[in-house]
Amino acid sequence: KAKELGRNSFEYFSAEMNAHATERLETLNSLRHALANDEFVLHYQPKVRMASGGVVGAEALLRWRHPQRGMVPPAHFIGLAEESGMIIEIGEWVLRTACAQNVAWQRAGLAPIPISVNLSPRQLARGDVVEVVRKALAASGLPPHCLELEITETVVMRDVDKSLETLRQLKELGVCIAIDDFGTGYSSLNYLKRFPVDTLKIDRSFVNDIAVDQDDAAIAKAIISLGHILNLKVVAEGVENEDQRRFLHENGCDDVQGFHFGRPMPADAFAATCLRR
Ligand code: C2E
Ligand code: MG
Ligand code: MG
Ligand code: MG
Repeated sequence: KAKELGRNSFEYFSAEMNAHATERLETLNSLRHALANDEFVLHYQPKVRMASGGVVGAEALLRWRHPQRGMVPPAHFIGLAEESGMIIEIGEWVLRTACAQNVAWQRAGLAPIPISVNLSPRQLARGDVVEVVRKALAASGLPPHCLELEITETVVMRDVDKSLETLRQLKELGVCIAIDDFGTGYSSLNYLKRFPVDTLKIDRSFVNDIAVDQDDAAIAKAIISLGHILNLKVVAEGVENEDQRRFLHENGCDDVQGFHFGRPMPADAFAATCLRR
């Protein structure tokens, strides 16, 4: 009886696993197909200087314009792209496209602003990441200080010495480096001091209740102070309303990003927004 049950559950699981594997394989193939068929697109979200209200940057955010599924957000495919290694090619495409877009905006008369690109853990771990970034800059003609790379703390902490070396080389190229989702990982203050970064981005999870939750308010204030003591710029992400904006303003946050100021949008809409301001 037990044997029968065991066998049945094995068959059950293996069928389910097969379905899962098949689905993953299909997604993987379609990621490849998507890259080859130009189905990826970047949307751009404004970063706003608290003091002036001016647009001082743009974060490039990846979307998959799927012929049947419509606009697919990164949460639905970045994980698989990362696991499968497809993120390397996709990430190169993102870098090239974002750099070229920034040059196009500047040629069209927009004031020069840095463009921020998210680097995945796997990209950063590769020995050739510095070369890939250098090539994207060279191919587009974008000045290095007009590119910012956003990386997450956990990535950096995985292999501290190697990350430190990579970040130093990236800094030598002249690009800016931001720590994304700050506060959700576990950077030690010692590493934060040693890493050649320019910016801390306060994670959205702290910003959400910043105006109503005393703990989140305290954490956000602490991150702002810490950043400023270390001579870093502090940016808050996920700012959705005026109460959050006011709190961040009163507590000296440098830049803000969020639906309150602008959603991620196609390149031409971004340019129009900048010209209107
Ligand atoms: P992230 O880098 O922390 O990007 C911020 C995310 O918050 C974006 O989601 C953005 O649309 C969203 N967001 C911005 N303002 C608000 C707000 O006021 N409220 C709320 N609720 N959300 C807001 P998105 O575009 O879905 O991207 C999710 C994550 O996917 C990104 O988090 C980043 O980790 C990853 N990602 C996006 N594009 C790329 C890429 O080109 N390469 C890699 N490796 N990862 C990417
Ligand atoms: Mg980011
Ligand atoms: Mg973030
Ligand atoms: Mg975040």
